[in-house]
Amino acid sequence: MDFSLLDKPVQFLKGVGPRRAEALRGMGLVTARDVLLHVPRRYDDASTVQSIAELEVGMDATVRGWVRTKGVIPTRAGLRIFQAVLEDDSGRITVAWPGQPWLDRKLREGDVLVVTGPVRFFHGRQIQPREFTLVGRGDDGESRDARQGTIFVAYPASEDVPQWVLRGVFDKNLDALLPLADAEEWLPDDERERLGLPRPSEAFSALHRPATLADADTGRRRLAFDELFFLQLVQAQVRHRQTRERPGISFERTNELIRPLHEALPFALTNAQAQVLREITADMTSSRRMNRLLQGDVGAGKTLVALFAMLLAAEDGWQSVLLAPTELLAEQHARKLRELTAELPVDVVLLTGRMGAAPRREALEAIRDGSARLVVGTHALLQDEVDYARLGLVVVDEQHRFGVRQRMVLAERDPPPDVLVMSATPIPRSLALTLYGDLDLSVLDELPPGRKPIRTSLRYPGKRDEVYRFIDSELARGRQAYVVYPLVEESEKLDLRAAAQEFERLSEEVFPHRRLGLLHGKMHSDEKDATMRAFLSGDIALLVATSVIEVGIDVANASVMVIEHAERFGLSQLHQLRGRVGRGAAKSHCILIAEAGGESRERLVVFRDTSDGFAIARADLRIRGQGDLFGSQQHGRDPVLRFADLTRDEDLLLAAQRLARRLVEADPDLTDPAHVRVRAVLDARYAERLKLFGVG
Ligand code: ADP
Ligand code: MG
Repeated sequence: MDFSLLDKPVQFLKGVGPRRAEALRGMGLVTARDVLLHVPRRYDDASTVQSIAELEVGMDATVRGWVRTKGVIPTRAGLRIFQAVLEDDSGRITVAWPGQPWLDRKLREGDVLVVTGPVRFFHGRQIQPREFTLVGRGDDGESRDARQGTIFVAYPASEDVPQWVLRGVFDKNLDALLPLADAEEWLPDDERERLGLPRPSEAFSALHRPATLADADTGRRRLAFDELFFLQLVQAQVRHRQTRERPGISFERTNELIRPLHEALPFALTNAQAQVLREITADMTSSRRMNRLLQGDVGAGKTLVALFAMLLAAEDGWQSVLLAPTELLAEQHARKLRELTAELPVDVVLLTGRMGAAPRREALEAIRDGSARLVVGTHALLQDEVDYARLGLVVVDEQHRFGVRQRMVLAERDPPPDVLVMSATPIPRSLALTLYGDLDLSVLDELPPGRKPIRTSLRYPGKRDEVYRFIDSELARGRQAYVVYPLVEESEKLDLRAAAQEFERLSEEVFPHRRLGLLHGKMHSDEKDATMRAFLSGDIALLVATSVIEVGIDVANASVMVIEHAERFGLSQLHQLRGRVGRGAAKSHCILIAEAGGESRERLVVFRDTSDGFAIARADLRIRGQGDLFGSQQHGRDPVLRFADLTRDEDLLLAAQRLARRLVEADPDLTDPAHVRVRAVLDARYAERLKLFGVG
């Protein structure tokens, strides 16, 4: 298919000469398509733009009007003020820019401005502009339109490409570009109607020239659907390659190990665990290979679910491995699995890098001869010298931040083992579908009953001494505590308490009678390991740390978590930190120390009053936005998601995933003539941008 028309350089657009083309390129608008895809920054309509006659002193207002008269007024103090009288259909008001006489050269009579700022009384009503935009030029005939339309569209503009230039480009070219957009429509009519989405031309028209704000959003949703669909399409292809291309193992369930475990458990599975186990069992017993993400808050019972899956494999004579991100976590998993399988005829074998030569040889031998059916370890398990007798299932415990997915060396084997990825970072469903669209999703959204809530409180720095007294009283009862800081070392730029300096101070001045330890990301991993082990064994009572302990370990005896400068942490990160306590029998406390007032404090109050990790993750996404969530996958001006908003578009995401998966199931390589357009759009527009999602 020929996409040449929209891919023409901007210079071919009406009203764009070589100089303006250069300026447009400077802001990333290289082709006509880039112009169409330039997303408005904001819309104003009657609900946000006031008529001048209505303005009252004390209001904060946005008005749109044209410059009737203007001039520079000197004051006695020597200050020069640029003033303009702005008029709309209802009346006039003066706008004054003190100290900006140069505006007199920039603005002309008849220019249309949108001005925002407080209304004051000063020789009559005045607006003090906090912000203003030139939306139409007085001498270019078009400004009459700018005076009319009911919705005002504000674009991201620059010094070289001001608002009115962009508006001019759209005014002169949009009508001609719309049919070109329709010529590239890839979504079949019946699908589009079923989804209730407009055609591309209608979508772009609504985006750039909306009749109402709702209209603008309908346009946005269509364009959001496109980007979500192609993202899901790439992921559906990866998923297809990983789960369908080569048949997986059909595990046979005998109940020989699963039933005794069920019977030995001193508790019932939660509904969520039972549901997730059904999903996993269905995957494992089918010939389709499993490739599944298991999400659940800390303590939701993921390890137990993983164990059931591993036993299902073991019943049928297959080996499973559980991969942990650190040695301590691997040891902890092995301990847990050994406890749970104490009565069962299966062995849990541990393999980590720090094991001595003899036990290591023994472990390798058991893996090779197949007597080790449940294997737990770190990345040491991925080395070539590890020779599996019959590997059937790989469980990856990804307690890391999402987005950094380990790629599976083990998964390349023949026959391909099933894969279960576990993540303890609750993320909103929409985000999980976006980042892990190639995996199927299972969610443990329920904690086992009877968990003691962690008491969370919020303190101003002035209360620090009280907090220290409280910590000391807990330590005196034999408990342990954490104090977490945002930085390792003091910084000249930021006036923050830092772990290293505070460790000195706390050791010498506050807790000289206690044993303290220091843990941060700049330490060598052996040192970190040794400190963590000392805390685990109780040799250290108070651990001073940075957020590295987020990916930490289960210390059931720790009952206090103090977080300094809590306003510096994201909500999800705070939730992970809080999850380090409340793991034992003692009542646990999380104390946030923050200077912050205002918005930051509100955020912390939300955190204090919410214990559900998924609710916190949703709030975090809403507050921080999705901008930084893709990390390295986000490249500069071409964000992966430009139109889609993960806090609002979950319905679109699900629809996009369904359609993409259906298409790939039917026609994995998109070679069917019916899919030629989808293929062409994918190759021409998305392949490059979405490469990162296709890796592996
Ligand atoms: P996760 O791996 O999700 O952090 P775990 O599987 O380690 O959680 O479970 C945390 C604790 O809860 C363990 O001690 C486990 O034995 C216990 N547990 C798991 N499932 C249940 C349940 N359904 N009822 C009661 N306790 C449970
Ligand atoms: Mg299978």
